[in-house]
Amino acid sequence: MASRQRRLARLGSSHPQPRVRVASSTTSAERRRDLRPIIHAEDVCPTQDFGSAAADLLAAAACVGCGRAGCALCPACATELEGLPYRTRPSPCPIGLPAVFAVAVYDGVARSALVAHKEQARLSLSKPLGRALALSVFGVLAAQSDRGTALRVLHLVPAPSSRRTVISRGHDPLLRMTNECAKALRAASVHAIVAPVLAAARPVRDQAGLSARQRADNLGGAFAFKGRRGLDGRAVVVVDDIVTTGATAAEACRVLGLVGADVLGVAVVAATARHQS
Ligand SMILES: [Zn+2]
Repeated sequence: MASRQRRLARLGSSHPQPRVRVASSTTSAERRRDLRPIIHAEDVCPTQDFGSAAADLLAAAACVGCGRAGCALCPACATELEGLPYRTRPSPCPIGLPAVFAVAVYDGVARSALVAHKEQARLSLSKPLGRALALSVFGVLAAQSDRGTALRVLHLVPAPSSRRTVISRGHDPLLRMTNECAKALRAASVHAIVAPVLAAARPVRDQAGLSARQRADNLGGAFAFKGRRGLDGRAVVVVDDIVTTGATAAEACRVLGLVGADVLGVAVVAATARHQS
């Protein structure tokens, strides 16, 4: 508990706060307090909705991190998703990839939680994973503080998943996480909206096992903008569950740039270990 309080204090003091539009009566101390609901672990279990709880019952309600019975992510393991956001960089780094922020290495609890949420539909993990994503978004915003631009609305654009993949899984895990992320950001006075404006334009090979160059070739021209209107000048953060080579995020950012979006950076829950931080 003490270490978490230290991390909270560092989040509020050592990271420059993004210039976000908040009610004029809101003080910086109040804004820092607003961040706390994002990273409290104790309510991970009690706030499950009926569907999430039912899914966990079917999965024997064991913690994905330690196997402890009771809920999908126990408070102790949840702290693994509450680290300070850090900047990470794939090596080699794709051309055009903006700043990428993560809260965890893709290993241990982070990996177990992302896999269980995605592949086993452990839906009660959407909230803690979405909160972790929100911390990464704060990392992106904090890195933008020197631009001096007041942020009116922040568009969260999920990296596209193929329609076939979503159908085969029976749900869209990244969209669920992004919705929870937006809720957490709004609770901290950042006017975030979810903008799923990218779609797969053509089939791509499974990325697993491909080199960085092969992934870039595989994804070139693979995404299309499907928004009704452009994003001219709109502040955007691309969100994804993990970043590996950065090829997916770079292609998403390239397409958003073509429609005029002001892409501030990329936020993910976890980065693979070969990243430099
Ligand atoms: Zn646990």
